[in-house]
This record gives sequence, structure tokens and C-alpha cells, in this order.
Amino acid sequence: MATRLQDELCSAERLSFDPASGVYTGNRSGYSLALIPAGSQMNLRVSVCKYGASADRAAFKALIKSCKPLKGCAVQGYGVTFSIAAGGTAAKQLERISTSIRAVTEYLAMNGYQNCCEACGRMEETSGCYVGGSVKLLCAEDYQNASQAVFRQAEEIAQKNENVIGGIVGALIGALIGAAVIVGIGQLGYVSMWSGVVMGVCAVKGYELLGGKLSTKGIVLSCVIMAIMVYLGHRMDWAITIAKVRGLELGEAFRETEQAVRLFGVSRNYYSNLALTFLFTAIGAVPTIITARKKYKAKQVAYKL
Ligand SMILES: [Zn+2]
Repeated sequence: MATRLQDELCSAERLSFDPASGVYTGNRSGYSLALIPAGSQMNLRVSVCKYGASADRAAFKALIKSCKPLKGCAVQGYGVTFSIAAGGTAAKQLERISTSIRAVTEYLAMNGYQNCCEACGRMEETSGCYVGGSVKLLCAEDYQNASQAVFRQAEEIAQKNENVIGGIVGALIGALIGAAVIVGIGQLGYVSMWSGVVMGVCAVKGYELLGGKLSTKGIVLSCVIMAIMVYLGHRMDWAITIAKVRGLELGEAFRETEQAVRLFGVSRNYYSNLALTFLFTAIGAVPTIITARKKYKAKQVAYKL
């Protein structure tokens, strides 16, 4: 779905848009540039050198001070990424982005910076490239090298056999860490989505590390394991409390958790708290898993923007 901002950036700023990555690329006064979405804000990336050397972050202080929409910058080798303030209407955003592009490219030209390849630093024609999940401004030769490396890696992953048992063990270990967080936070008297984030990251990473792949099957298995671990973690949290209150061994309290909550007449609390733990874990884990899966796929893709 094309938005107004997207149309305007493409027509007024003469940028091209890649729907798959959400990145805009273009060329202004000889500088290759990329507009990369980062959450709600946009980052403007260029790759430049001065007298053959990479830029110094301090050199852009005056520029950032004088151009209001610019919030800061980061320098990584030849790559310089400026962050542009977010929010507001499409018209406001467009204005901020246009102002930033103009201010940055004028500043670069006035101060003797030259467009160069982000990888080799040669002052050649560069273009925006999407390689292995990140956006780079590369010369033709370095795009070739980078994309070949990505495709080699993708081939290696494709040839690997998925080790489902290993993956399950990995996910179990990961989910156990998440369950420990549920118990820890539960003992403080809270339910938090952070245990879901931890569980999501650890279970999926665990599956990928020991299973060799992050397939759809892997994600489904990880989710089942996570659900079991949420249940057990929550039960352990209550068992610890019951053991304390009744002076029982933890193992015994864990075995008899559900009888004990009935006995104390707090079944409703127990089950509503369990539902809440499931809900919060899901809120934390679902986006985490989606991001992990996207990153896993992006690692295996390379193309020119
Ligand atoms: Zn190069």
C-alpha cells in the first residue's frame, strides 16, 4: 500500500522505494544515499571520505546543530548515518526528510567529502544494496563480493539437514531461561511481557543453534515448548510461595500446587494469573519470534535497491 509520504518521496525527492525492505535510495549531487526506516524514525545513510580517509563524527556536530530535523549521527567506517526526527503528519515528515537530505548533501559538498564505496573506500559509483539484512552503499565489485558471500551462506543453510531433536533440546534450554524469568518476576509479585521477550529470543535461538535451521516446523515446536514452560514456570512460582507458607519441600509443593490452591480457595487467582502469564508472554514472544524469523530470512538475501 503506497502512502502519501512514499509517493512524495519518490516523486519530489526522486528516490526509489523497495517495498520488501522499506528502504528508499537515490542520488543527490553525486552522493548515493539511502533512507532507512528505524522504528518510527528515518535514518539517512551516506558513504563518504575526505582525502581518502573516513569521516570523523565530530565533524558533523555543526551540521546537526544547524539543521533542526537532524537528531544525531553515527559513523561506521565510511558509512555515516544521520537520524531524522520522527512523528507528525506525512507533510511534516516529508519536509524534515527533504530538509535533511539537502542540508547533509550541501554540507558534504562544501566540506570536501566525496562519495565512496562503504567497503573499499574507492571513490567509484556506488548504489544502495541490501545484503544479509543490512543496507550498504557499495561499488559494483563489492556488491558482487558481498552478495556472493550471502548466497554461499544461504546455500550452506539450504544444504544443512534440520536436526529436529537438537532443535527441541535447544528450544527447551532457551524456554527454561524464560521460565526462570517468569518465576523470578512472579516472586516479586508481577507478571511481565519481558519474560515473553526472553523466552521468545532464547527458545528460537536455541532451536536455530542446535537444530541448524529456523524452519516453520522449528517455530511451531518452539511455541509448543514455550507454552509448556509458561505453565510450568507459573506453577513453580506458586509452588515456591506454597512451600514457604506451608513449610513444605519445594518438590512436594510443586506436585500438589493445584490441590493446594483449591484448598486455600485461591483457584480463581491461580488460573486468572496463569491466563495473564500466557497473555503477557505471548505479547512479548510473538513480535520477538517474527523479528527473529525475518532476520533469519534476510540473512540469506542480497539485491541492489
Ligand atoms: Zn568497493
